[in-house]
Amino acid sequence: MLDIQPDIKFKKQLKKLSNSSLNECMQCGNCSVVCSLAPDEKPFPRKEMIWAGWGMKENLIGNVDVWLCYQCGDCSTHCPRDVKPADVLASIRQLSYEHYAKPGFLGKILSKPVWLPVALLIPIVIISAILYLAGTLQIPDGDVNYSKFFPHAWLNGSFTIITLLFYGFATSGLIKFRKDMRLQFPEIKLKKVSFKSLLNFKREILLHTNFNSCTSQKSRKFAHLLVFYGFILLLVVTVFAIIAVITHNYPLKFFNPFKILGNVAGLMLILGLGILIYNRLFRKKEFGSSNYTDWLFLVSLFLLTISGGLVEIARFQNWSLAYHLYFFHLICVWFIVIYLPYTKFGHVFYRLIALTFANSIGRE
Ligand code: SF4
Ligand code: SF4
Repeated sequence: MLDIQPDIKFKKQLKKLSNSSLNECMQCGNCSVVCSLAPDEKPFPRKEMIWAGWGMKENLIGNVDVWLCYQCGDCSTHCPRDVKPADVLASIRQLSYEHYAKPGFLGKILSKPVWLPVALLIPIVIISAILYLAGTLQIPDGDVNYSKFFPHAWLNGSFTIITLLFYGFATSGLIKFRKDMRLQFPEIKLKKVSFKSLLNFKREILLHTNFNSCTSQKSRKFAHLLVFYGFILLLVVTVFAIIAVITHNYPLKFFNPFKILGNVAGLMLILGLGILIYNRLFRKKEFGSSNYTDWLFLVSLFLLTISGGLVEIARFQNWSLAYHLYFFHLICVWFIVIYLPYTKFGHVFYRLIALTFANSIGRE
C-alpha cells in the first residue's frame, strides 16, 4: 500500500511561492510530453505536480529531476489548467536552498524579505569590525585611494577566509542533498561518471545547450550566456587585480587591458541582467512568476555591477562619496560571493551535483 505523508506546511509554502493552484492539475501529462529535457522513463514534471498537490515534501526535496529542469516555461505554456509546472519546479529548487542551508539561519534570512535587514547587517558589522582591527575605520584624507580605507592584505585575506568558512559550512548541506537524491534510488547501482559525460557537462555549461530546446523563452539563453561569461570575466579580472596588488602594480591604469576587460564584463552583465529583469517584469506570461529569491539574486548582481563601475569612476574623479560607494560595493560582493550557496546563485553547485548524480544512475 502506498504510504503518503503530506506536509501541509510545505504545500502551502510551495503554493505561495509558485502562485500555482496545485490541486487543479488534472494529470493530463501535457507538461511531460512537451518537455524536451524529460527522460522517457518516469518523465517530469507531471509526477512532481501530483506530489506537489499531495504535499509530498520528501519526494520533492532531494529529487534529482527538479534540477534537470531549466525553467524554459514550455510546460507552463501548454498546461490546460494553467497550474504553472515550471514555476512549481523553480519553487521547489528555491525551497531546497533553504532546506539544505547550513547553518540553517543563513538559508532563512536569505529567503524572506522580512529578514533582509539582518542579511545586510551581517556584512556591515563584520566589514566594519575588520576595518576597525586594521585601524582604518575612517574616511582617509587626500586623493581617493581605496587601499588607505581597506588595506589590500586585509581585504583579500579576510574575504578569502570568510568565503572559505561559509562554503565549508554549506558543503555539509550539499552532501546531505546528494544523500537524499541517493535515497530515492536505493535499488540502482551507481556507475562512474564517464569521460564522455564530463565532456557533455562541459559543453552544456559553456554553451548552455539545454536552453536550445526552449521554445517559450528564446531570449533566456542569450541573457544567461551574457551573465555567465560576464561573471567569469569579472572573476578573471579580480584574480589579476589581486596579483597586481601583490606585485605592487595596483591600481590599474584606465587603459590596462584587464581594466578594459573588467569594463566589458560589466557591460555584458548589465545587458544580460537587463534582459532578465525586463522579461520578469513585463513578460510574466511566458517567463512565469518571480519571487523574492529571484529578485534578491538579480538585484544584488545588478547592484554589484553598477556599484563596481561607480567605484571606478569615483576613484578617477575623486568623488567625496567614493569610500561610501566602495563600502556599499563590498556588501554587494558579500551578497553575491559569500552568500552564494544560500541564494539562487547556489544553483551552480546544486545543478552540477544533480547532473553528475543523474548520470551515475543512467538518467540522461
Ligand atoms: S501540470 Fe498541467 S499539463 Fe501537467 S499534468 Fe497537470 S494539468 Fe496537465
Ligand atoms: S520548464 Fe521546461 S525544462 Fe522545466 S519541466 Fe517545464 S518544459 Fe521541462
